[in-house]
Formats: sequence, structure tokens, C-alpha cells
Amino acid sequence: MPKYNVKLKKREQVARDTMAFWFDMSGTEFSFRAGQFVDITLENPPHTDAEGNTRGFSIASSPNDRDELLITTRMRNTAFKNSLKEVPLGTQVLVDGPYGNFTLKKDASKLAVMIAGGIGITPMLSMITYAAENRLENRILLLYSNKTAEDAAFVSRLRELERLNKNFRMVAVLTREALQGYENGHITGETIKAHVGEPFKNAVYYVSGPPAMVSEMRKALEGIGISEDDINTEEFSGY
Ligand SMILES: Cc1cc2nc3c(=O)[nH]c(=O)nc-3n(C[C@H](O)[C@H](O)[C@H](O)COP(=O)(O)OP(=O)(O)OC[C@H]3O[C@@H](n4cnc5c(N)ncnc54)[C@H](O)[C@@H]3O)c2cc1C
Repeated sequence: MPKYNVKLKKREQVARDTMAFWFDMSGTEFSFRAGQFVDITLENPPHTDAEGNTRGFSIASSPNDRDELLITTRMRNTAFKNSLKEVPLGTQVLVDGPYGNFTLKKDASKLAVMIAGGIGITPMLSMITYAAENRLENRILLLYSNKTAEDAAFVSRLRELERLNKNFRMVAVLTREALQGYENGHITGETIKAHVGEPFKNAVYYVSGPPAMVSEMRKALEGIGISEDDINTEEFSGY
């Protein structure tokens, strides 16, 4: 896979302990399918540890944005993330990719049910943005779960995408807070059924987030009889 030496262009906090980083891809031939990820390597970072200087991140921007690539991460006190937060804008990193097959299936006849746990929203934001921009026929239902509203990145952008794309609907869920505009509670097989509101075994499911969340959702989906073939997952190993 080709590797690209590119510069950190911008960074911004987008939720509690959550930062977005944009890299300048202009002048490169980089292209990807919405939902894929890249490996990012920091060269000579200010902090290092035994985990090394490379991490995988789903691309949160749309493939239509040829000039920049967005990744978003939960900040923790680790060498890699402290380095990414501190290095000056313009610092060069190595982007390796794209990798992965966690992408929207072409068959638009089936409802795509996306279940995102926290920062697991990143590949889905890319797919949902791309679907809106390209006026795809695919119907998408996003179930987006966070502990509190402060933890939920990109909610206003997703609400805007709902307005732009009549084929896209979001149910934002909070597990530790009751707030207007959000469902309160945990996503379970029964709540999935209720939100899908049509023959739920005829849908294709996408789940992304920390491994524990992904495995819980897989169990919930299998528990309501969804076939393994209709469950696509992306585990953010490292959480
Ligand atoms: C395909 C793929 C896509 C991914 N996409 C994303 C993405 O879009 N956004 C994103 O944020 N991450 C994503 N990840 C995960 C990412 O690669 C990192 O592993 C993750 O962000 C953790 O990195 P770190 O530097 O915080 O921890 P590391 O330094 O990698 O931590 C190593 C280990 O230490 C432990 N650890 C470290 N700090 C803590 C802590 N504070 N609390 C508990 N345990 C801790 C964890 O068990 C972890 O396994 C993706 C992973 C994969 C495989």
C-alpha cells in the first residue's frame, strides 16, 4: 500500500476528551472508500512508549474531500496521543493505507443499520457524509450511543446530514443522561427491532466501536436472529 508523507493541518476538540485532526492530502493521489482506515506513524515524536509510534484510525472525512483527511480520537494520556496533541501544526506524519472492508454495501434495497459506540462514529460519519453528497439511494438508520451528550462527537453535523438526506435518520442514545433529543438507555436487541420498524431481518447491520461494545452488539443482533452474513463490524482495538 502506498505511504504518504503529509502535514498536520488543523486540530480541534469535538467532544469531551475527543480531538479531531486534519491532515493535508493535497498534491497526493490518496483515495479511499468511505469506512476504511489508515495507519498513522509519527516521526520523531516528543513522547514514545513500548506501543510504538503507529496507530490505526478510521477516516472520518468523505472520499470526496481530496485535499484533507480527518481522523478523530478519544484523548488519553498515552505517548502517541500526547504527541499528536502537542506537535506544531505543519509537522509531517506518515499515512499508510487505506485498509479495511468496513464499507457500505452497494445493494441499496436493504436498510443499512449502523450502530456506533462512542468514537466508533468515525467510519460511519464518512459513509453517511458520502451517501448524502453522492445522493445514494441507500437508506441508513444510525443508532449512535454515548454516555452523555458531552461525549457525543459530530451530533450537529449528523443532524444537518439528516436534513440534507431524506434517506438518512439518526437515533442518538445516551446511557447515563436523560436529555431532550436523545433516547435514554442501552441499545439492545429489542430497541434495535423497535427502531428499525420494518422487517429487521432484511437489513444489513454495521457496528463499530471499542471491542467490548462491538461484541455486545454482535450478541444482541444474533440474539434477535440476525444472520452473521448481515453483520459487519469494525473493532477499535486498543480501547
Ligand atoms: C481498524 C481500526 C480503526 C480504528 N479507528 C479509530 C478511530 O477512528 N478513533 C480512535 O480513537 N481509535 C481508533 N482505533 C484504535 C486506535 O488504533 C488506538 O488503539 C486507540 O485509539 C488507543 O490508542 P492509545 O494511544 O490511547 O492507547 P495505546 O498506547 O495504544 O494503549 C495500549 C493499551 O494500553 C491500555 N491503555 C492505555 N491507556 C489507557 C487508559 N487511559 N485506560 C485504559 N487502558 C488504557 C489499553 O488497554 C490499550 O490496549 C482504531 C483501531 C483499529 C484497529
